[in-house]
Amino acid sequence: MREGCHVIVLPFPGQGHLTPMSQFCKRLVSKGLKPTLVVVSDKPSPPYKTERDSITVVPIPNGFQEGEDPLQDLDDYMDRVETSIKNRLPELIQDMKLSGNPPRVLVYDSTMPWLLDIAHGHGLRGAAFFTQPWLVSVIYYHVLKGSFSVPSTKYGHSTLASFPSFPVLNANDLPSFLCESSSYPNILRIVVDQLSNMDRVDIVLCNTFDKLEEKLLKWVQSLWPVMNIGPTVPSMYLDKQLQEDKNYGFSLFNAKVTECVEWLNSKQPNSVVYVSFGSLVVLKEDQMMELASGLKQTGRFFLWVVRETETDKLPKNLVEEISEKGLIVSWSPQLEVLAHESIGCFLTHCGWNSTLEGLSLGVPMIGMPHWTDQPTNAKFVEDVWKVGVRVKTEADGLVRREEIVRCVAEVMEGEKGKEIRRNAEKWKVLAREAVCEGGTSDKSVDKFVSMFC
Ligand code: UDP
Repeated sequence: MREGCHVIVLPFPGQGHLTPMSQFCKRLVSKGLKPTLVVVSDKPSPPYKTERDSITVVPIPNGFQEGEDPLQDLDDYMDRVETSIKNRLPELIQDMKLSGNPPRVLVYDSTMPWLLDIAHGHGLRGAAFFTQPWLVSVIYYHVLKGSFSVPSTKYGHSTLASFPSFPVLNANDLPSFLCESSSYPNILRIVVDQLSNMDRVDIVLCNTFDKLEEKLLKWVQSLWPVMNIGPTVPSMYLDKQLQEDKNYGFSLFNAKVTECVEWLNSKQPNSVVYVSFGSLVVLKEDQMMELASGLKQTGRFFLWVVRETETDKLPKNLVEEISEKGLIVSWSPQLEVLAHESIGCFLTHCGWNSTLEGLSLGVPMIGMPHWTDQPTNAKFVEDVWKVGVRVKTEADGLVRREEIVRCVAEVMEGEKGKEIRRNAEKWKVLAREAVCEGGTSDKSVDKFVSMFC
């Protein structure tokens, strides 16, 4: 182990942030470091060690009492998380210094840019970690600089945005907060503010890889000290030769590992539709009905993740009917699932982690985006990387069952299906190359370590 090189990693407390940043900790371990992962948690507990004792996890409270619902008011949540971190982190850094293990750098989630001042104020370098791709951050940067004005409607069909190195974007390809700014003014401020102190940040890390966003990379590197370190998918999934510890990283949910894997083992290669909308998306009851009916009409096997909080909306009668073909679970071991040979396509909300995971594991995708950066990711899946299609949403906001059937057929059958699968295979190879020894992302992690150690 490298002595005297201590790194603190501090993700925003959401699954889409915890996953890539805890995986980044594992990459640091593979380079001989022993990082500390600070997690904001609703269940305060003493620090503990993980990853064969190489990662120290320090849970700090999110500022909510037992019984209070943290997700009721996002502004309140952000405020309390900020207050809690501002109270605890300086103490923690001080304790580390006193115990002879002073941290050198704080890798902080870009959605909490105020952490840079805490790092600098305590003599640490600050590394902003972006859990979203450049294609999204660049749009927010243009909004910050006033070089792009926010449109006022979501479902306009006019050409609205043209950024260098981008396909032409329509309103419904843009990150949702830009078009729904009146409903989410505070979230728009948070996502745009991520880019507000980039002139002072010491290093910018991003969970993407160079080839994936090649043209944008040149542009962002001309502005900031950028290093792409993704995909943060554990290398064991990218390279079947590797026998690493089967540990899915830091999860807020309990996955039904054995149930899913055994069920998938009984299916033919490329035959199953995997359906998951990540940790936050909430579907309306009538959308659940369309989805369940669409999956039934495909006649294919499917594995569908319906989180506990969504279960009540499942159409009860239909669930009985489809149970022969489908397995519904409250949370899956997603990487294990996507890496399984039985998976034929991934119906996804296009959260960035899910998109990158599907792409890195060579799985054709059907994008069914809901909000935040998902529409823009879906646009790139369909039109730039050409590894899938995007569903068409009706004017009432619903995706109809016939559309689900059409998209499943499009990615799993015919000439277009074959072309999508070829492209998916190509990106899988490129993603693997990026993180394997000597690849662009692997070198970035080496460079990060040599800068601070
Ligand atoms: N995930 C999982 N099991 C599930 C659904 C999701 O392990 O059943 C993981 C998935 O692999 C990804 C993360 O949860 O790493 C979700 O992040 P993403 O950015 O895709 O979506 P978000 O939850 O932030 O909307």
